Amino acid sequence: MRISRLLIAATAVAAACSQAKPEPPEIIPQPAEITVNDGSFKVAGASFTIGENVPAEALKAIGAFRDNLETVTGTKTGDKAGFSFLLNENLGPEAYALKVTPEGATVEAADFNGFFYAIQSIKQMLPVEIYGNAPAKAAWSLPCVDIMDSPRFAYRGLLMDCCRHFFPVEEVKKVLDLMSIHKMNRLHWHLTEDQGWRIEIKKYPKLTEIGAYRDGTQIFRRKETDGQRYGGFYTQDELRDVVAYAAERGITIIPEVDLPGHMVAALASYPELGCTGGPYEVAQHWGVKPDVLCVGKEETFTFLEDVLTEVMDIFPSEYINIGGDECPKVRWKECPLCQARIKKLGLKDKDGFSKEHYLQNYVTARIQKFLNDHGRKIIGWDEILEGDLAEGATVMSWRGTKGGIKAVEKGFDVVMSPNVYLYIDWYQTKERDKEPYRIGHYLPVDSTYRYEPAAGMPENGEEHILGVQANLWSEFLKTSEDFEYQLLPRMSAASEIQWCAADNKDYDRFRKSLDHMVRIYDKLGFVYCKALWGKIGLPGHEIPARSQEELDTLDFNKVPFMEE
Ligand SMILES: [Zn+2]
Repeated sequence: MRISRLLIAATAVAAACSQAKPEPPEIIPQPAEITVNDGSFKVAGASFTIGENVPAEALKAIGAFRDNLETVTGTKTGDKAGFSFLLNENLGPEAYALKVTPEGATVEAADFNGFFYAIQSIKQMLPVEIYGNAPAKAAWSLPCVDIMDSPRFAYRGLLMDCCRHFFPVEEVKKVLDLMSIHKMNRLHWHLTEDQGWRIEIKKYPKLTEIGAYRDGTQIFRRKETDGQRYGGFYTQDELRDVVAYAAERGITIIPEVDLPGHMVAALASYPELGCTGGPYEVAQHWGVKPDVLCVGKEETFTFLEDVLTEVMDIFPSEYINIGGDECPKVRWKECPLCQARIKKLGLKDKDGFSKEHYLQNYVTARIQKFLNDHGRKIIGWDEILEGDLAEGATVMSWRGTKGGIKAVEKGFDVVMSPNVYLYIDWYQTKERDKEPYRIGHYLPVDSTYRYEPAAGMPENGEEHILGVQANLWSEFLKTSEDFEYQLLPRMSAASEIQWCAADNKDYDRFRKSLDHMVRIYDKLGFVYCKALWGKIGLPGHEIPARSQEELDTLDFNKVPFMEE
């Protein structure tokens, strides 16, 4: 990698002298190795050659790219020099090699994702009109390059919270499109919450009849709600359609059924699953709720196993996320059935954790065994590490990095999604008085970008880091515009943490490439925060950002919220 970057540096010097050499292409995430050569390859009317044994899913993606190219260039593929797609089983998972010369472009890969990602890199090197579906006049050529590319981490995720606010299938697919451009391959879909249950479960219809709707939504941070009925859910047919759509883009959807806390919507639907028996109502306020599943009752486990059976039937993912976060123990301490279970299991306060913490460990282990018996693995938030955690679980570190570091020290695999770098529901500018209302912390694009997942880990840490994930919670994101505004451009920054080796990251280079990437956002109709380009606010409400001098002296924590 170092050698080829020296070559680029040498190329840049040569370019300054002869002014003939092209700039390196602006690809996000930046490929592992890239060398720019003289010349270009004219793609209009290029032929397509497919080698033997290229995977069938890849043929579909290659065919879609060929159709796309024919449409935008207005030229049918012909028999002149062109694209070749060849299987190369010596390349690693998701890796690809791309060689472009004036005579054509050769792609080699060992699997579907490798071929698909080569196409993504090619598209980023073409005029942005390639992202449209109409004939366009543009310089339809690719620069001559040699690229060898592969990801740093196998798990490159984004969390989409469709519970606090509900986003339609079309928006989920739009986000999947954007993920695929960024070579991200895991959508962690947060589908159950106190404020709304979003998956149709045939055996428990009240989960969506009752649990998918709330009678109001908290206004900003106030006690009052708007009194408006709000909700929605996805049918199993819709979910299967989204799973297939994601798979065509190299993305696995990992559903989250958050348990045993964050279950108020389920309790409102089936009050007998709670310790007090209710009545409960679907939550209208954000925050952690004292009412959780009663795990002293066997019927609670029957319920969870039935739900997870339908979930596994919809989602073929190796991993199922079982949440496990923010589960207060106050009801369990008072509940005779939960206490009887504690007694029967012989649980005791130990090592600074209460016997109720160990009761949650029992729930986690029991659900883990159920899922393992069905060929699946669990991921849970870092709270599952408190007390005892059974072997084979993967920990998602969200409360900073320390949960992840601790998990690695104990030999567990981790997905790093520390809030201080990757909770992109936080403000991305200091201008809290002018930005739409959000969660009250500050996380600008460059802070996200500079996160190094192996920092603070033990020596073998990297082996246990399955991957990295950006999380977009939706408490204050009412519309798709709100959602995208928070997502972009920080999702582009997250993709380089996930894909690029630490020594291949460079904020200045990334910042320059973003100027190209936002043209792709524009072409695809995405809303994004334009603070780096001098503006803030949602479309229709954009205003100039403060000057850099003003921003430098502004203390984020002293800036009042816009809406209060
Ligand atoms: Zn109970």
